[in-house]
Amino acid sequence: MISPKIQDAINAQINAEFWSAYLYLAMGMHFEAEGRTGIANWFRIQFKEEQAHAEIFINYLISRGGRVELKPIEGVPSAWESPLAAFTDTLAHEEKVTALINNLYALAIEEKDYATRGKLDWFVSEQVEEEETAKGLIDRLKLVGDNGLALFMLDQELAARVYNVPSPLAAK
Ligand code: MG
Repeated sequence: MISPKIQDAINAQINAEFWSAYLYLAMGMHFEAEGRTGIANWFRIQFKEEQAHAEIFINYLISRGGRVELKPIEGVPSAWESPLAAFTDTLAHEEKVTALINNLYALAIEEKDYATRGKLDWFVSEQVEEEETAKGLIDRLKLVGDNGLALFMLDQELAARVYNVPSPLAAK
């Protein structure tokens, strides 16, 4: 059985993952409206990944005999100045999520809940990847600057991104 403290923290993380999903869906919708369908595709896949993150925590809580509590999801912005602004917000947001995962990890150690700590290892690595990807796209968008053709080509490239079910969920 999972401790109430860990259960509350995981429920808060489930909410944070759904908020992330909502944020990226909003970004996807913004870029659909702007005619940047490749960038929109990238964010729509990000949306699915965040839902999967929430689901991994949901499945984990169930497997430990815990109770899943779905709290209201806060509103998200609906417009961004530019692709660079959206990816800058993405990186800032992922850094916050990394801090949340780290806090959860520290709590699991404090509570001597080593099963939860182990489950979080995948998320620790996932956050490294999330931050690296966002940073890489920011760097490239800075190089693109106001070159329309370069932005068109990057948009085409991001159109090719496909969704892969994250491994902890695929294994379920
Ligand atoms: Mg996430």
